[in-house]
Amino acid sequence: MANRNGWGRGRSVPTGSPQVPPDSFVEQANVADEDVYATFDEEWPACWERAADLLSWDRPYDAVLEDDDPPFYRWFTGGRLNAAYNCVDRHLEAGRKTHAAIRWEGKHGERETYTYRDLYVAVNEFAAALRDLGVEEDDVVTIYLPMIPELPIAMLACARIGAPHSVVFAGLSSDALATRMDAADSEYLVTCDGYYRRGDAFNQKGKVDNARLALEHEVETVVVDRLGDELPHVLGEREWDYHDLREEFAGATVDPVSRDAEDMLFLMYTSGTTGEPKGVVHTTGGYLAHVAWTSHAVLDVEPEDTYWCSADIGWITGHSYIVYGPLALGTTTVMYEGTPDYPDRDRLWEIVDRNAVDVFYTAPTAVRAFMKWGEEYPERHDLSSLRLLGTVGEPISPRPWNWYREHVGDGECPVVDTWWQTETGAILISTLPGVDEMKPGAAGPGLPGIDVQVIDERGEAVDPGQIGYLTVGRPWPGMARTLYGGDDQYREEYWKRFSDPDAGEWRYFSGDAAAIDEDGYVTVLGRVDDVINVSGRRLSTMEIESAITDVEGVAEAAVVGRSSGTTATEIYAYVSTEGGFGPGDDAVRETIVDNVETAIGPIATPDTVVFTPELPKTRSGKIMRRLLEDIANGDDLGDTSALRNPEIVGEIQAAIGED
Ligand code: ATP
Ligand code: MG
Repeated sequence: MANRNGWGRGRSVPTGSPQVPPDSFVEQANVADEDVYATFDEEWPACWERAADLLSWDRPYDAVLEDDDPPFYRWFTGGRLNAAYNCVDRHLEAGRKTHAAIRWEGKHGERETYTYRDLYVAVNEFAAALRDLGVEEDDVVTIYLPMIPELPIAMLACARIGAPHSVVFAGLSSDALATRMDAADSEYLVTCDGYYRRGDAFNQKGKVDNARLALEHEVETVVVDRLGDELPHVLGEREWDYHDLREEFAGATVDPVSRDAEDMLFLMYTSGTTGEPKGVVHTTGGYLAHVAWTSHAVLDVEPEDTYWCSADIGWITGHSYIVYGPLALGTTTVMYEGTPDYPDRDRLWEIVDRNAVDVFYTAPTAVRAFMKWGEEYPERHDLSSLRLLGTVGEPISPRPWNWYREHVGDGECPVVDTWWQTETGAILISTLPGVDEMKPGAAGPGLPGIDVQVIDERGEAVDPGQIGYLTVGRPWPGMARTLYGGDDQYREEYWKRFSDPDAGEWRYFSGDAAAIDEDGYVTVLGRVDDVINVSGRRLSTMEIESAITDVEGVAEAAVVGRSSGTTATEIYAYVSTEGGFGPGDDAVRETIVDNVETAIGPIATPDTVVFTPELPKTRSGKIMRRLLEDIANGDDLGDTSALRNPEIVGEIQAAIGED
């Protein structure tokens, strides 16, 4: 028994009633073998050959896993391959050169299709240009581009010549860019003049100029002209125009550089939701095998599909599931430059309809927005091409999950709630849509071969339904190899807390809190810090949020604790509503309080309910609870420039003041 106040004591987490995938889905699913879990366990780690078999290797690997120096695991050692070859060339050789690789949808309705042949030409020409600029194998190339085709082209061009890329999300500041380039000693940058943000031409090059001033080393910079006459720019010293370079190297080909499986493919920073972003290192073999396998088994991607992940490539989701996973499988991947509500709130559904999208993958924050806007928008379009829906990035509670399945998936499409992190590289927890029943509100079991455990402070498995630490007990191919900050930081951050090196036991700690049910289904409850202690009871803020968002008319909620030191922790609930109920709407407030009391108990009753038009979000769309906690506690908020909607902070502070 866990101690009374410690981890491992909580209450059962509500999930919706189980739902089964339709037979029509199961019959065609890439993975429908119910024994797949048992097989992976029996054959572990050789089971991962299935993932490696999805790739083309220049030289076969000698061992699937080398684990003599934990937590520094090496996968598919001795194997050699090239990621760009796997994502492009081999599909041409397979006779699929006219198949669409990328369908790009521009902000203002522009459209471009790159066949695999077009992509091959672009990647080769740009790879030749990068080489000519001096990029050598293992040089880090920074890419600071919005969602335009040149972004995946640049990534694949780097991969082709064995130069790791470091993509910096285009919306980040010049400081963020400079810090990342400095940390990686990156002397090459691919960027653009500007791009459209909320309808206006936004100057990206200006941010780049500032970043370059802050750097001590010289930077060769390639500039994509995205805005033409709308935003004239001049190229200075060490600056090159992307299109001129493409012309200069028209028709050039570059042999893909054969990379060791353990060579770095890219460097990527985490979203920074909980603090300073961490630079995560991913390798060529294990990462590519794992993203290809999960695209195949979880997202059920088939080569003939049109697949759309609406994330930004500037985050890991876009790396793994817009670029590398789908292209490794030779499918058509849709890339969208704009926002879901421009020119109208049916924009995404218009794109699904026109492209006959088969599989759609998005974030819970987007689903909650769709729900807030209403079903009339998806109803305007024919969404019958959809076969599977997915979410990633935050917990999704049963109501939005059901809404998504009902109004986007016509009540038919399976929905996969996929849990993973920048550090895990690929999906680790989800249902397999061709095998498992779904439980809205729970992501699912650990995938085959993934040893997910929810444990208490002492490392013991918590009882079903209780809150614990989300950990992973065995390595997996897509795992980060280290942090750019160094091996020590990597060990400290993820492996120290629950490993016992003397006993030879190693366990990865995700930093997330979770509960697990009798069937091994995991409900991720957010960050460990999002669990608050009220009168000696551990309460998951996400559980309270789920009870609040269950209330008809509530769109989103974020719950934090206010702890004044002397008095008991007070619960603050920030709520945004579908119809814009005002702060004075006591009926909604009462329903919220009632619902929390019924679902969890009076101990979880919010002391303060703050209505706000929106919740503060990170640039990757996650609710910034850390900031809301500071607001509740009256603490210094520090720098809010990392927010997507910084203007909301003042409104929330004013709303609290009125209360
Ligand atoms: P940082 O690590 O810098 O604070 P971050 O954790 O937000 O930033 P990411 O790696 O992009 O950066 O996000 C991973 C996190 O997202 C997970 O640790 C988890 O908290 C959350 N997450 C992802 N998918 C899910 C999911 N399906 N259910 C619940 N939470 C999820
Ligand atoms: Mg994280």
